[in-house]
Amino acid sequence: MTLDIRSITRAYDGGSPALDDVNLTVREGEFLALLGPSGSGKTTLLRIMAGLDRPTRGQVSFNGEDFLALSPRERRVGMVFQSYALFRHMTVADNIAFGLKVRPRGSRPSRADIARRVDDLLRLIQLEGYGSRFPSQLSGGQRQRVALARALAIEPRLLLLDEPFGALDARVRRDLRRWLRDVHEQTGVTTVLVTHDQEEALELADRVAILKDGRIEQIDAPQALYEHPASAFVHDFLGEGLQLRAVVDRGEVVSQDWRGAAPADAPAGDALLCIRPEDLEAGDGGLVGVVMSNQRRGDRTRVAVSLHGRRLELDRCAADPLAGLQPGAPVRLVPRRFHLLSSDRSQFLEKTG
Ligand code: ADP
Ligand code: MG
Repeated sequence: MTLDIRSITRAYDGGSPALDDVNLTVREGEFLALLGPSGSGKTTLLRIMAGLDRPTRGQVSFNGEDFLALSPRERRVGMVFQSYALFRHMTVADNIAFGLKVRPRGSRPSRADIARRVDDLLRLIQLEGYGSRFPSQLSGGQRQRVALARALAIEPRLLLLDEPFGALDARVRRDLRRWLRDVHEQTGVTTVLVTHDQEEALELADRVAILKDGRIEQIDAPQALYEHPASAFVHDFLGEGLQLRAVVDRGEVVSQDWRGAAPADAPAGDALLCIRPEDLEAGDGGLVGVVMSNQRRGDRTRVAVSLHGRRLELDRCAADPLAGLQPGAPVRLVPRRFHLLSSDRSQFLEKTG
């Protein structure tokens, strides 16, 4: 069971297309996140998967079947949006049962089966005993759990979530995030989550597709994206980091006041040196910087350093030599690990296999 998106373009009159020749395979049972800034095309791609929008060009198939020829209901997808979209005049149980009750008589489960299914789902979303309440009697987080149960009631072949926690406060978001991952593990349903929150994507998903201007910049497992970004955009979007111009020459990489051994496969010439703050250590011959602030919190110390015009936050334990430095102190920082992008690799296509 795979969903194949092939050469999908979605153009509107005037302006650049919302999606521009997108290729993507969603694998059976996986949790895939579509991550990108606002306006990058995430919602458009999800709506095309759901059948709520049609591409200008390209194919969408599910197990080889042409998905574009099917109505949203025939596709059997479950959807959850940011706005709760529950039926206010229906109880929680009736909301969850809705997708089953509206089925044509031939395929509709019996009343007893529907009641049993609703009970199972109430247990799954940890709202046992809440079936007879109305949405107005629930918190925001509880309503989104009901919305998820309603989407799961039809036993969807594909679960599509568009910023489902976007309207909730940070604490509830974090709790629901963990809970959603548990639900995914229990149900095994193939899931696509749209988010602009990189932490949410990296924590929840098996793979993350990074969108920018209607194109997929890179798709890979969270750790691989973090450690091997294919473009400066991906490196910058996925967390704190430093990007410096560098030159690779005779097995060495040279940037500003630092030089080190280049990776064996690095081509000679101009490159972009990408460094994560946790990979910087105080040391001789390192990049020249100056300490801006030093804040102790519990057993950690946050040291802000200005390095070649960028401010970097370094999170250190109390024993780290950097933790003892006061504002104004000069510092030299050696990258223990880094990632090089050669200048012609700003474009990147999905790695297959
Ligand atoms: P995201 O969900 O990543 O924020 P969207 O998929 O909603 O992005 O939008 C991608 C681009 O398509 C945006 O530039 C947006 O303005 C444009 N767009 C979306 N829907 C329409 C529409 N109905 N008419 C015209 N342009 C649209
Ligand atoms: Mg959106």
